[in-house]
Amino acid sequence: MRLLIVEDDDIVADAITRGLAAADYSVLWVTSAEAAQAALVNEEFAMAVIDVGLPGADGLTLVRRLRSAGKTMPTLILTARCTLTDKVKALDLGADDFLSKPFEAAELAARCRALMRRSYGASSGIIKLNRMSVDLLGKRLCIDDAEVELTAREWLVLECLVRRIGLIVSKERLQQAVANPDHDITANAVEVHISRLRAKLGSAAVVRSLRGLGYRLEEAKPA
Ligand code: CA
Repeated sequence: MRLLIVEDDDIVADAITRGLAAADYSVLWVTSAEAAQAALVNEEFAMAVIDVGLPGADGLTLVRRLRSAGKTMPTLILTARCTLTDKVKALDLGADDFLSKPFEAAELAARCRALMRRSYGASSGIIKLNRMSVDLLGKRLCIDDAEVELTAREWLVLECLVRRIGLIVSKERLQQAVANPDHDITANAVEVHISRLRAKLGSAAVVRSLRGLGYRLEEAKPA
């Protein structure tokens, strides 16, 4: 499948297209949100790279439109300025990752590869990280081939983090993931589940706290 690039600047778009072509990806380049939506009517894309500053609707509006139209492909946002507020807004709208301009073509290709690998893992049901294997359908966590017992809520937190491994997951998103109709979950309760999950993961993976943004699950470095 092709990658969709939405960027109105010829020079940047040319650099992106060359960089991805060098990494053996084929690309469709469009210059506006409207053109991107038109392309998505006829074709499925493996992922989309979307610039924030576009003529007409901006990149974040495009992400919101795609998500509300039920498009789940990974999206990477390109932005000239990436403040904390911009990142929170983009995550809330359903973006998966960010890259600040200027960037190296190799960095962009690496981020695209990671996003597509994650989305493949999520669709195939098993996500393998160094010492850890997460079976999303069977709801099993194994570390060093031994099964680790989790409570239902710890599992929901882990599932949410592992589906976005390497990316930031907001505290609100985790709150929503573990809430049920009978129980509202507070932000503090999310912290409690995170700390219990950390204890169970031990050195197999790191759940990093990012102040004001949320949490990120990271693979432990190979021993
Ligand atoms: Ca632009």
